[in-house]
Amino acid sequence: MVKENNTLFVIFGGSGDLAHRKLYPALFQLYLKGSLNEHFAVIGTARRPWSHEFFRAGVLENLSDGTVEQRETFVEHFYYQSHDVKDSAHYVALKRLIDELDAKYQINGNRLFYMAMAPALFGTIADHLRSERLLSTGGYNRLIIEKPFGHDYESALALNNAIVGTFDQDQVFRIDHYLGKEMVQNIPFIRFANPFLDAVWNRDYIDNIQITLAESLGVEERGGYYETAGALRDMVQNHIMQIIAMLAFPRPTKYADQEINQAKSQVFASLPVYTPAEVATKFVRGQYGQDIAGKQVAYRDEDKIEPTSTVETFVAGEVDLNLPQWQGVPFYVRTGKRLPTKKTRIDVVFKADTSQLFAAQQPVNPVLTIQVEPESGIELTLNGKEIGTSSLIEPHQSQYLLNADQQKQVPDAYERLLLEAVLGKQGNFAQWEGMAGSWHFVDAIRSAWAQEPTVDFPNYQSGTMGPKAADELLTKTGRHWIYQG
Ligand code: NAD
Repeated sequence: MVKENNTLFVIFGGSGDLAHRKLYPALFQLYLKGSLNEHFAVIGTARRPWSHEFFRAGVLENLSDGTVEQRETFVEHFYYQSHDVKDSAHYVALKRLIDELDAKYQINGNRLFYMAMAPALFGTIADHLRSERLLSTGGYNRLIIEKPFGHDYESALALNNAIVGTFDQDQVFRIDHYLGKEMVQNIPFIRFANPFLDAVWNRDYIDNIQITLAESLGVEERGGYYETAGALRDMVQNHIMQIIAMLAFPRPTKYADQEINQAKSQVFASLPVYTPAEVATKFVRGQYGQDIAGKQVAYRDEDKIEPTSTVETFVAGEVDLNLPQWQGVPFYVRTGKRLPTKKTRIDVVFKADTSQLFAAQQPVNPVLTIQVEPESGIELTLNGKEIGTSSLIEPHQSQYLLNADQQKQVPDAYERLLLEAVLGKQGNFAQWEGMAGSWHFVDAIRSAWAQEPTVDFPNYQSGTMGPKAADELLTKTGRHWIYQG
């Protein structure tokens, strides 16, 4: 029997894309599964003067699953409040609605504020929530925010300071939706629930770890935002860094939120701050050109993109953690737009046997692959013997992938993370210390690149795995990318 949670959700930016595409369907799943039942309400706020009915109709449009009756009963819990976040008077009206719904649904003061709008407005909202007394004194008050959390360390710090005047750190839930993915949450289980793997999860047995977040789409309609971000800020500072933390954090004393976050903070604290010379040898940036057939436009020809833009749509690099367990083990990371397929995977490359036991034969590096998406599962590549009478070594591969039925049971990242926020579980949310550490790491790379403004872009064709230099990062050390696209 799933326990119902009493919660009032206040969504700032309730008419926006994120709210409609991700948040409302995720809340509906929680409703269908019983985590939300009778004692909840959702207030969507935005500037437009919508009625509750109009708002509900828009929410309904994005719901599939369930019966018509379930969908209609669900959206009856939705209310709309026309609200300009900069206007103090509007918070008075919002407070009135919050109090009314709290009483109507017997929510007992549990409030979850979701800032689904531009981060520049986070501070204004947080200030008003405090000054206009929208926080409850009975239940909990929690805040959920989304990326982009700043564009460098200084702006992230300012954003953080703007929020912590109203919310304590343990009330702030910073969503990184990669932390809501099934196989990313699975990483600690694979590592720590298998003692034989835990025993070799270190510099003595692991040669390198490779993380690939490949996107097949281009910049699409997000050109305006992307020109201010680039792949390093859009994907590396947050998602890739969180995955590194999941792969590298030392064994916690207990599998509980606080212990996990403490263990992860050790990884973030151990991130290097590269010198420009190190950036030049350890990081590669790229920007897509047309595809071979000339059908897809180059980044510089996309909508809202400067024709001379030097914004990177591809990054590959080496992250060296300053932790004893990981001394000398490069974490190779790679992400880009317009790569051949959409794919997130992690390849843990173990050391090869160099004992010469098998004479002239060279065993391959054993590899543990964690498939994150679109497939979810684990693959293991080991050395074995060729079938028959020979003594030749050949790689054996075994694979565990979720089947279609299992995939259907996997909750969407937003569903999972919204539930965890409702339950007050911080283990799968980005913490400020980690964010600060990854911004310092990324800022050093950006600043080195800023000193080398003339780049030979575009330097990779759409539909390929990025610039040649990304392969050379590994081949110059005798390694190669396990995933070739
Ligand atoms: P959007 O432009 O679709 O929606 C923005 C919302 O904010 C709208 O409801 C708009 O009416 C409201 N708004 C803007 N100014 C306002 C004001 N002064 N007062 C009241 N309401 C105001 O944007 P979005 O795509 O939903 O993204 C919201 C935030 O989430 C952005 O910071 C974005 O970067 C981030 N984000 C979005 C996605 C996504 O999938 N859309 C994914 C990750 C992060």
